[in-house]
Amino acid sequence: MYSTIFVMRLLCALLVFAFGSFAMTPLESRLDHQMKMWQKRLSLEDWTLSIRLVRQSEIDPQSWGMAEWDPLAKTGTISVLDPRDYNLHGGELKLDMECTIVHELVHIQVSPLDARDEGVREEVVNKLMAALMHRACPN
Ligand SMILES: [Zn+2]
Repeated sequence: MYSTIFVMRLLCALLVFAFGSFAMTPLESRLDHQMKMWQKRLSLEDWTLSIRLVRQSEIDPQSWGMAEWDPLAKTGTISVLDPRDYNLHGGELKLDMECTIVHELVHIQVSPLDARDEGVREEVVNKLMAALMHRACPN
């Protein structure tokens, strides 16, 4: 009897662990929701995109996000800097994370017209991001 309870508990713990590793944190699900909303607004609904939090060491220094995509499969991943490495807090952090999502989605949107020069690409993407956000982004 005792051992059955123990086994049950162990199974429960394993299940919680297994599902927990797939489930999104509240922050990730908020960002995922925001990304889907902006995908709709930018008519990128036919893309299958996922969002993930990354540490600064995983992306370029001085950057707050990154996007990788496959234009033929219309799939991709948007990486957003983990709040632990962000230079902002509270409302400014929330707003800037949304700016990052919009910035990366605009990269995907304009990719068929991509300029060779990275500086030119960034300028166009930032102008469109600012127009979409209706306000200045903290970073
Ligand atoms: Zn960029």
